[in-house]
Amino acid sequence: MMVEPDTPAASPRLERWLTTGGVAVWTDRALARDGILVAFTERGGGASAPPFDSLNLAAHVGDDPQAVDANRTRLLESLGYGRLRERLVTAEQVHGSHVALVGRADAGAGAFARGVPPVAGTDALMTVDAEVPLLMLYADCVPVVLVATDGRGAISVVHAGWRGALAGLPGRAAARLASAAGCRPSDLVAYIGPHIGACCYEVGDDILSQFCNTFDTIGAVDGRLDLAAAVRESLIRTGLGSDRIAETGLCTRDHTDRFFSYRAAPVTGRHGALAVIAEGEYDEPASRAEQHRST
Ligand SMILES: [Zn+2]
Repeated sequence: MMVEPDTPAASPRLERWLTTGGVAVWTDRALARDGILVAFTERGGGASAPPFDSLNLAAHVGDDPQAVDANRTRLLESLGYGRLRERLVTAEQVHGSHVALVGRADAGAGAFARGVPPVAGTDALMTVDAEVPLLMLYADCVPVVLVATDGRGAISVVHAGWRGALAGLPGRAAARLASAAGCRPSDLVAYIGPHIGACCYEVGDDILSQFCNTFDTIGAVDGRLDLAAAVRESLIRTGLGSDRIAETGLCTRDHTDRFFSYRAAPVTGRHGALAVIAEGEYDEPASRAEQHRST
């Protein structure tokens, strides 16, 4: 990490980055240059056939396992992290509220479709170790990446569907991450990726009333639920400033050409949220990205 411990990190921001081979991610380029990569993936640039076309990163949805493995390889290589392919960590996501701290000994758990199993039963992965890339999978649920930039860094990748959001999982993960990193929650930065927006997320009155009772920022409007508002409130209650939270603001249901949406098609792939603390300087494959951008 090149960030001085007493220097507050700049406000986080997300921008679209078209890398090699048509793989596009939403990332914070400044953070990446400081040694921590955060990436929310789009669905283009992969090897999977419909209905998983094409950068499906999930092994549990019925896709060809070889295509899934090839897609994960393509993603890491496109970001300059091909060397960490065998160290990738994924989770058996269960819509719970457990936070799992993983380390070097867990590297490779769930890396391949038919290899070592993923980390069991958790919707938040966290690490303070470098070179342990964390990947969680989504199709409408809210991807959240939390980062402690002090010292050598710490990261958490969270999967928040309505159950996780209602249980305050993002805030719990932030508190755990700050504790693991030895900083205050207010020192963290958070990134909220593409998810189903309030524009498209209709839920029953029972669920909506639970959110209204739990969160100040949720109102019962047209039976639609703003999951990101609940995630933001959960983080802010834990101590993060609103200026420490960056969002793509993209609705997955509205952009099925770029993201997977379970509500649009129950049999579909999963896009991902990836985070990794780099050892040493990050060798950003910028020249290749520039080539793609100019075409
Ligand atoms: Zn929408």
